[in-house]
Amino acid sequence: MQDQSNRIAALRSRLKVAAAEAQRPVSEVTLLAVSKTRTSEQVTQANVSGLTSFGENYLQEALKKVSALKTLILDWHFIGPIQSNKTRQIAEHFSWVHSVDRLKIAQRLSAQRPTNMPPLNICLQVNIDDEPTKAGFEPSDLLTVVSEIARLPNLRLRGLMAMPEARKDKQEQRIPFRQLRKLRDEINQSLDNSQKLDTLSMGMSADLEAAILEGATIVRVGTDIFGPRSTTAG
Ligand SMILES: *Cc1c(COP(=O)(O)O)cnc(C)c1O
Repeated sequence: MQDQSNRIAALRSRLKVAAAEAQRPVSEVTLLAVSKTRTSEQVTQANVSGLTSFGENYLQEALKKVSALKTLILDWHFIGPIQSNKTRQIAEHFSWVHSVDRLKIAQRLSAQRPTNMPPLNICLQVNIDDEPTKAGFEPSDLLTVVSEIARLPNLRLRGLMAMPEARKDKQEQRIPFRQLRKLRDEINQSLDNSQKLDTLSMGMSADLEAAILEGATIVRVGTDIFGPRSTTAG
């Protein structure tokens, strides 16, 4: 656990350096701790180190942690693939969903969001590198789908999320992030002031500096907080 708090401290200084290089206040960048495959104890420990936002990919695993940790004030984000028969539980237990990749999923989340809860914050996942095996909207479909989703009553459309192909070099890593930012800016020209997208969920352990340089407002970090994931867990 000492390791974990050291890793979080190191990560915070990376965020600070990256924000300074981008000439942005570091407070503009939310650190989302990706806690898939990690135990409730590890999440609690990360919370002791000051982290409050946690991202989960697998619903059943996530619900156990959400329930075990309900006395802590945590913000749970769903970031994994979404099957349509799982939307109700996602709508009931999370405050954000980053991985909305079909109109139908957004419609179900809106219909199933309990009305005594604040609107569910969502990001649209974009298949920014046009990879056949990856989820996400095609960039060319976004404007149409945004106009539909922006009308759904129990959702708040906050922005875009992407998971580009791995690239080694920082300048190369910036390219898809820059594309995502431009898509966000284009969409914003079509939206009323009250609806403008304020979120870019992009950047992970290996490429968060590049993402922050291109305007990331949420970086999703697992490995560099909790250590390497074992391949069997999950
Ligand atoms: C696992 C995961 C991350 C975190 O990846 P790391 O490389 O461990 O930082 C971020 N986003 C999504 C969608 C993930 O599934």
